[in-house]
Amino acid sequence: MRVAKETVVAIEYTLKDDQGNIIDASGDRGPMEYLHGAQNIIPGLEQGVDGLVAGDTKSVLVPPQLGYGEYSEKLLQLVPLNAFGANTPQIGMRFHAETNLGMRVLTIKKIEGEEVTLDGNHELAGKTLHFDIKVVSVRAAELTELSHGHPHQSGGCCGGGGCGSGEASSEGGCCSTGEASEGGCGSTEEGASAGGCCSTEQPVAQKQGGCGSGGCGCSA
Ligand SMILES: [Zn+2]
Repeated sequence: MRVAKETVVAIEYTLKDDQGNIIDASGDRGPMEYLHGAQNIIPGLEQGVDGLVAGDTKSVLVPPQLGYGEYSEKLLQLVPLNAFGANTPQIGMRFHAETNLGMRVLTIKKIEGEEVTLDGNHELAGKTLHFDIKVVSVRAAELTELSHGHPHQSGGCCGGGGCGSGEASSEGGCCSTGEASEGGCGSTEEGASAGGCCSTEQPVAQKQGGCGSGGCGCSA
């Protein structure tokens, strides 16, 4: 069976940047499973996998516009140091916050005097992504998977477990209903693909919340 719309595909992958540094890999997590044609993963990778069969390997180059978007200065904002209250902000610290683009992951980029610069860009925004992939399996999607918009596998609808298994997803990942409904996760809106939440808690190749849109409350 070839990878096409309405198939569930499992791939192993290694993701490198332009310098050849490994950014992410399926590795010990095992293959990443997704529903093809349902925007579970970034568009450039999905296009690269299209038409392959189990056992195929391929290198897929994904430019920013088909990955996590271009880096945008508009997603930088200044907040006063005292907005952090008793917490001491540190460069590189990440947290979720409500912004005018919905729930985002913000990274502390700079601290100067009493001013803190927050960056709402996805950590991979503006980067060209180099994937080496191997298709592990391809199967027809079940009807419930099509209606939910994501694969169901061992442990729940988000792969790996968190969602659908009844437990709250740790670290506020892709499945928390609050965030999903804010348009951050699982949404295919511009804002979400440019950054959004979930980025650090799930495989990088998986677009923000592959599982968010289906509600993830599924117990199937
Ligand atoms: Zn589901």
